[in-house]
Amino acid sequence: MTNRKPIKSVFFLRCPSCGIGSLFKSKHSYELNKILDMHEHCEHCHEDFEVETGFYQGAMYMSYIITCALCLAILPIYYLFNNTREAFLDNAMYYLIACFAILIFTAPYVIQLSRAVWLKMHVKFFKSKTEENHL
Ligand SMILES: [Zn+2]
Repeated sequence: MTNRKPIKSVFFLRCPSCGIGSLFKSKHSYELNKILDMHEHCEHCHEDFEVETGFYQGAMYMSYIITCALCLAILPIYYLFNNTREAFLDNAMYYLIACFAILIFTAPYVIQLSRAVWLKMHVKFFKSKTEENHL
């Protein structure tokens, strides 16, 4: 079984192997009391979502990368309105406030997305290792 599903299954928080089964028990990311509740395995293809103890600690790195990307994504918009050096530096507090607001608003989705990306990276790795052992 090869992993040929499009990368968009990660953004919809679906199984990294089949792209159909849901990773999380909650219907959407803003059910804050269930934000980290994941299924033990895929409902469709039975892919294991609990790889090992502490596996999802590595998702912190993905969360850091995603939040940095979000802050860098709004930098061109900030520069559009503050295109002189003085205005850019004088109004830097507005950029920080905008980053803070966006990160607070997107935090639940970013937490789940970082887990989905981390799992996607490793499921692909484990599949290829399994295929190598069978060859
Ligand atoms: Zn699946």
